[in-house]
Amino acid sequence: MKQKLQELKQLLLEVDDLQMATAVLYWDQTTNMPPGGAAARGRQAATLTRLAHEKFTDPAVGKLLDALQPYADSLPYEDDDASLIRVTRRQYEKSTKIPAQLLSDFYTHSAATYQVWTKARPANDFTVVAPYLEKTIDFSRRIADCFPGYDHIADPLIDFNDEGMKAATIRAIFADLRQQLVPIVQAITAQEPADASCLHQSFDENKQLAFGQEIIKQYGYDLERGRQDKSPHPFTTKFNLGDVRITTRVKQNDLNEALFSTLHEAGHAMYEQGINRDFDGTPLGTGTSAGVHESQSRLWENLVGRSRGFWQHYYPKLQAAFPQQFNDASFDTFYQAINKVSRSLIRTDADEVTYNLHVMIRFDLELQLLEGTLAVKDLPEAWHGRYQSDLGIHAPNDSDGVLQDVHWYDGWVGGGFQGYTLGNIMSALFFDTAVQAHPDIPNQISRGQFSTLHGWLKDNIYQHGSKFTANELIQRITGGTLTIDPYIRYLRNKFGELYPL
Ligand code: ZN
Repeated sequence: MKQKLQELKQLLLEVDDLQMATAVLYWDQTTNMPPGGAAARGRQAATLTRLAHEKFTDPAVGKLLDALQPYADSLPYEDDDASLIRVTRRQYEKSTKIPAQLLSDFYTHSAATYQVWTKARPANDFTVVAPYLEKTIDFSRRIADCFPGYDHIADPLIDFNDEGMKAATIRAIFADLRQQLVPIVQAITAQEPADASCLHQSFDENKQLAFGQEIIKQYGYDLERGRQDKSPHPFTTKFNLGDVRITTRVKQNDLNEALFSTLHEAGHAMYEQGINRDFDGTPLGTGTSAGVHESQSRLWENLVGRSRGFWQHYYPKLQAAFPQQFNDASFDTFYQAINKVSRSLIRTDADEVTYNLHVMIRFDLELQLLEGTLAVKDLPEAWHGRYQSDLGIHAPNDSDGVLQDVHWYDGWVGGGFQGYTLGNIMSALFFDTAVQAHPDIPNQISRGQFSTLHGWLKDNIYQHGSKFTANELIQRITGGTLTIDPYIRYLRNKFGELYPL
């Protein structure tokens, strides 16, 4: 058995090598590559991706997994070997159940759709991309149908990003959340908006980067096993557990941009850096789901990085770094500015209170598209209708409406959005549980000390990599299931103090 397990690990390591090499190509493409490299780079990445897929879906992997099943069954569920075999089998089944021809037809279609979308959005022309989107929905249904036995057609697609989560459960949680959020947003936006002009002055780009890096070092992001570069869109990437990188985007006239995206990406990166090193090069060696990953970025960005206590420690340092810009701005002015709530059209720019409404609109619409209860031609109006009822605004066009996010035009429809809001909900649930175990954490944060919190997250979440699904992790950590209560409490406490609710 040990020899078969070794064989499996060797195969998985080679798959991982190909995938991580693809990640290096992508990182280089978005940080350093001259424009002339684009065409060849696309082909190189596609070749490596194909080789990795072929290697992983080789029947030899299936045979090894079958041979190892009795060994896995003889071990406790949480044993490392048993978990490796279980998680690899789940991924193997996901990768082999979709016929190769269907997948390759879909990728061809998807690349064409993306090209059309890049022109449709600036031209504000949904009609040119609509026939592509109709085909994408058809493909999405066929891909879901490769996994029969689902309750809702979106379930298999959701499972790719948030394993074990189902449309019905998420719908119920989101409906509950929406019911609580809409009145909060109404109460806040009826009041005088915060003045955020202090964040929109001129800030030296290198000083902005240095300030953010100092914070994430103190958070516990290990720069011996990571680095930060600039890219058009911030992201986190990993080449192995000893090399987890982040990127950011700096705006000279907007302090929010680099600072909070740095804190956000550092949260993703610290999760990966904290995984048990024995899992490197296997399917266990990565964060477990989109939602849990986002819970970590949001925890460090918002629950820590936009909190009053945190800035009691860091605001004097920010004033010292940018004396001209902040010497006349009081602590409260700054704190209100970084927590400004407003009705806005763009999801990625939204504040903590309104952000989830943007996500839930997309989630609900994509379920309807997949169910066939909403036709593509009616999508723009359905979008505007929901923005009106949930956020009280109407986009002047489709560019900032239904064409806004790349997700539906760069992959299948279904499963791409729920993780953002699940992550927000989980961020408060995990933070709450950590504080119950260590009530001094908030005081430590206001002294710029993060090791207790970071240590708790490593022990309870990071180290496990993909061993447990999100639901299993929540059960192990809290003894219960996912609940929105800590999240709603957090929002009410924080924003009730900023804006009387
Ligand atoms: Zn994120």
